[in-house]
Amino acid sequence: MAMIEVRGLTKTFGEVAVLKGIDLTLERGSVLVIIGPSGSGKSTLLRCLNVLETPSSGTIAIGNAGIAFAGGTRVRQADVLQLRRQSGMVFQAYHLFPHMTALQNVMEGQITSLRRPKEEARERAMRLLAKVGLETRADSYPHQLSGGQQQRVGIARAMSIDPQLLLFDEPTSALDPELVREVLKVIRELAQEGRTMIVVTHEMKFAREVADRIILIDEGVIVEEGPPEQLFGSPKQERTRQFLSRIM
Ligand code: ADP
Ligand code: MG
Repeated sequence: MAMIEVRGLTKTFGEVAVLKGIDLTLERGSVLVIIGPSGSGKSTLLRCLNVLETPSSGTIAIGNAGIAFAGGTRVRQADVLQLRRQSGMVFQAYHLFPHMTALQNVMEGQITSLRRPKEEARERAMRLLAKVGLETRADSYPHQLSGGQQQRVGIARAMSIDPQLLLFDEPTSALDPELVREVLKVIRELAQEGRTMIVVTHEMKFAREVADRIILIDEGVIVEEGPPEQLFGSPKQERTRQFLSRIM
């Protein structure tokens, strides 16, 4: 059964239609990579899935939570919270709370959003920091960590609420080249463990490696989708060919 079903998702900012009817289906344990030019709506799509933006219309179902959005109709806050809890988001960069240690950053959502007892949250946070190779940096503040380490804390934080789905929005694009690899390694391991993930990235080699399916988005629509071999090897659409020739 599909873990994620998105139908007819649109998002309009003022007069500007940024997402123009996105349909997505994702099976449990599969990795979807989203590529596309800057400004095409990739971040907006992830933000809608995490309900950081309220979609203008369409439906989103993740796990056992779901909402039908219809322009102007209010959605219940309880439904928003439940849907939001289904996914953990890793942002481009610098999204940790600066005044909290790595450990506190990974504990925070567990306490505020899941109401987990503090000790339990601490234990879980330490396990996740170990998982991303940062058990010795638990008491460091973000400014004391490299960009790659901060992103790994971000990954631990995204996982801390035990989400069904992990969302990565260009997790390495703000990093110096030598730090990219350590972050991709963690994401690759999560993919191998069978996590369900949606990854927006410009790292095409990585995309080809981890993706079960790739989607190219341009101007708020899905231009083409398919398995990596097909999308990279023999793209069907001229727009896909153009995008790939510019980026590779
Ligand atoms: P991508 O992540 O593919 O680069 P985005 O989803 O960030 O693209 O943005 C898509 C378009 O939506 C851009 O034209 C951007 O300017 C616009 N946009 C994004 N967020 C907002 C917002 N909060 N208000 C107005 N316009 C926005
Ligand atoms: Mg973006």
